[in-house]
Amino acid sequence: MIQVENLVGGEFIVTAECFDDISPLDNSIVAQIPRTKNVDNAVLAATQAQPSWGGLDMDERCDWLDKIADILEKNIEEVARLESLDTGKPHHVAMGVDANRSVNNFRFFANFGRSIKSETFEMEDATNYVLRKPVGVVGLISPWNLPLYLLSWKIAPALLMGNTVIAKPSEITPLTAHYLGKLCTEIGLPNGVLNIVNGYGPEVGQAIVEHTGIKAISFTGGTATGKIVAATAAPMFKKLSLELGGKNATIVMEDADLDIAVPGVVRASFLNSGQICLCGSRVLIHSSIYDDFMSRYLEELNELEIGPVINVEHRNKVMSYIELAKKEGGQILAGGNVLDKPGAWIEPTVIAGLSHTSRTATEEIFGPVVTIHKFENDAEAIEMANCTNYGLAGSVWSKSKGREIAEQIDSGMVWVNTWLHRDLRVPFGGIKDSGVGREGGMWSVGFFSEAINICVMED
Ligand code: NDP
Repeated sequence: MIQVENLVGGEFIVTAECFDDISPLDNSIVAQIPRTKNVDNAVLAATQAQPSWGGLDMDERCDWLDKIADILEKNIEEVARLESLDTGKPHHVAMGVDANRSVNNFRFFANFGRSIKSETFEMEDATNYVLRKPVGVVGLISPWNLPLYLLSWKIAPALLMGNTVIAKPSEITPLTAHYLGKLCTEIGLPNGVLNIVNGYGPEVGQAIVEHTGIKAISFTGGTATGKIVAATAAPMFKKLSLELGGKNATIVMEDADLDIAVPGVVRASFLNSGQICLCGSRVLIHSSIYDDFMSRYLEELNELEIGPVINVEHRNKVMSYIELAKKEGGQILAGGNVLDKPGAWIEPTVIAGLSHTSRTATEEIFGPVVTIHKFENDAEAIEMANCTNYGLAGSVWSKSKGREIAEQIDSGMVWVNTWLHRDLRVPFGGIKDSGVGREGGMWSVGFFSEAINICVMED
């Protein structure tokens, strides 16, 4: 049994009260998690560490990010093992998606930091230059679906820009953040630069958002929680980045190359058991290829190996949507059942026959459940794609019209003939109820720094 500890000012600490971390593979208890309610000590440690960390040269901080990437990479098998244990995802997903990307996040921002150019704006009689100062102590809050992947996506740019960090992983998946803390201590990252606190979101998460010593909040999670975070942080004028939910459309046009589209759409539907904010949970198919596409899609589904969903509570929520779909007139084409074994397993589920405005087709389910809709022309496809309150991502599968359709989708990110193909320099984030702000490359650098203009009059 693992004892998860908080990392505060370089010390590993356990609170008096702990709670269980349960594996969704078989409902066994894998760890004890501290129930933290107060972050004063973590904020104090981070505040004390910030001036010297922020005072390092950018190149020195880049070297630290490389060191973190190196030690994570050296221990990548353990990162994947812990992620798999905590989330139930198959090892190849934990390794290929989570562990690799966590290493890449640190590596990318190390290299990116070295490439940042100074920004100057010449006037006839003066020169302006932009100084990027650290924001200070920043709070980073992440969900359970891609635990270290999403937390390291925030930690790396926050540290790069000279901030010190209070990080809170989801209470459901704390193991890899805890392990990262151990590795950072092993390589001698200065005390207080990275602090990690654990516990329930409404307790320790809320304490982070409320704390006046924390100057920026970067949050990834559900839209409902995002509203609470925004309502708490905005009156304090904290910098706020919100990466929230999605209900993404996958559009299969009449001229799609089905050899590429069928496996691509299955992957977009079900990777990580459909628990990626970018998953395409609504598949819109042109009527002329509907039958052909669907028979190949359902056949491809038979080859799929997916893990459980995150826990039994979430499984019950997902199953309640399958029941709702039946009431709304949906027809279950595949799956629809809980697997008869311990843990939180659900069959990959495909539902047709629903209105594209039904609750099942417009609310985020965040599990291995996809709704299928037929369209007759481009305008109808676009209307269907844009009919939800979310606007995170989407994909278009077409030999000739990909860009044209993609540009009309109200989402922060759209892929054409691919999905989840990521260049870490590009803007990542959503519109509408999917969030506020962008992460990635210069967008992360901008969020985790204060841009100060210095205007110098020439002699
Ligand atoms: P939640 O919103 O429940 O939780 C996200 C994080 O917020 C967790 O660490 C949680 O802690 C914490 N939290 C909960 N309440 C509060 C609070 N009052 N104040 C501060 N922090 C709080 O989301 P889930 O963990 O259920 O994650 C799934 C959601 O995340 C989905 O909606 C998904 O779409 C979204 N998501 C968005 C992404 C994006 O980039 N746009 C990427 C990945 C997921 P605890 O878990 O301990 O309660």
